[in-house]
Amino acid sequence: MTRRVLIIGAGLTGLALANGLRCADDIEITVVEQAPVITEAGWAISLTDRHLDALRQLGLAPQELTADRLARTIMYDPNTSVPVGIAAMDGVVTTRSELQLWLWEPVGELVRTGIAPVSITDNGACVEVGFSDGTAGEFDVVVGADGINSWTRRSVFGGPDPAYAGSAVVRFQVPNAAGLHLAGMTSDGRLSLFVLNRGTVLHGVVFLPGEPDNRSDCTLTELAEDYADLSGPLAGLIKAMRTEPVGFYANINQVVTDDWAVGRIALAGDAAHAMSPRLGQGAGVGLQDAALLSELLTLPDLPVQSALAGYAGIRRPAAQLVQQRSHAATLRIGHPGSALELHTQANL
Ligand SMILES: Cc1cc2nc3c(=O)[nH]c(=O)nc-3n(C[C@H](O)[C@H](O)[C@H](O)COP(=O)(O)OP(=O)(O)OC[C@H]3O[C@@H](n4cnc5c(N)ncnc54)[C@H](O)[C@@H]3O)c2cc1C
Repeated sequence: MTRRVLIIGAGLTGLALANGLRCADDIEITVVEQAPVITEAGWAISLTDRHLDALRQLGLAPQELTADRLARTIMYDPNTSVPVGIAAMDGVVTTRSELQLWLWEPVGELVRTGIAPVSITDNGACVEVGFSDGTAGEFDVVVGADGINSWTRRSVFGGPDPAYAGSAVVRFQVPNAAGLHLAGMTSDGRLSLFVLNRGTVLHGVVFLPGEPDNRSDCTLTELAEDYADLSGPLAGLIKAMRTEPVGFYANINQVVTDDWAVGRIALAGDAAHAMSPRLGQGAGVGLQDAALLSELLTLPDLPVQSALAGYAGIRRPAAQLVQQRSHAATLRIGHPGSALELHTQANL
């Protein structure tokens, strides 16, 4: 019998799940996305080898994704500029828009854009969902992949709301004028750069640990003053900050919940476990959710409720471990040497 699956949200997790399910003959997929058009900002996303394995499980070929190999990261003492550590991470770094469009391509025709759910009821035999365009549908499975502020989480589980995780972050991109080929970071973990877009772009990240909105009134030039004495490869980034490239400031929030699945409804990705980007794992953990969900939902003879309960039981401890480590690492930002321990944890 055909299994009708509704995915709420065409972000990275929702699209990944649609990719995983699309090859099964007996699955009918609907994806609803509130945004009228997919126009995601292109910030850096790192994917470790485990996350790339999840893409393979979803039937995708990650070698076809436009991405740079995640280079070794040199860590510099912020006072002396001397290299004090080298972290090797296995994986790739790409942009969120690149990854989203790549995931979109095989399944875009399944996505109804500009539509959000307005009601949801699991009556045991199916889930009845009403949509913002006045239509309604019945589904055997509903997966809320609707991000950190998940409507599904609020409507089905009553929360929780996202909570501040201890730091803000500013991101910006500048041309790689000096031809840097290795990522870099201050050993206190506050300032870092990735090399992106086939070596042409530097992606800069400044973490601002402290209270919410910490230094939100500062320009990049003012933030650069903290590192005015840096020399060596990171000095180029400081110089670029003084040109005031467009910077995106955000408080870092997380969602911690044990309520991942009930009956025929489950949460996945940021909806279930939004986490600090400190360890660069959030997107990849969502891809791992999608891979397991897709495996379990396509197993013959496994009832939906058992598949979703199994998914939650297997994925939740793993995702929450990464989330706890990301949070702990966030709380250590700014302490001398905190970045040196960072990368020993990065390949969870
Ligand atoms: C600054 C920063 C840096 C990051 N860096 C990394 C990194 O290096 N590596 C990494 O792995 N992760 C990183 N992440 C995390 C990563 O971006 C997220 O974990 C990932 O995008 C989550 O994907 P998602 O599909 O679960 O949610 P989202 O990408 O948020 O997608 C949710 C989708 O659902 C849609 N939606 C929302 N509500 C509704 C509704 N009611 N109805 C229909 N549609 C709805 C939204 O429009 C959106 O398209 C970072 C995050 C931040 C903030």
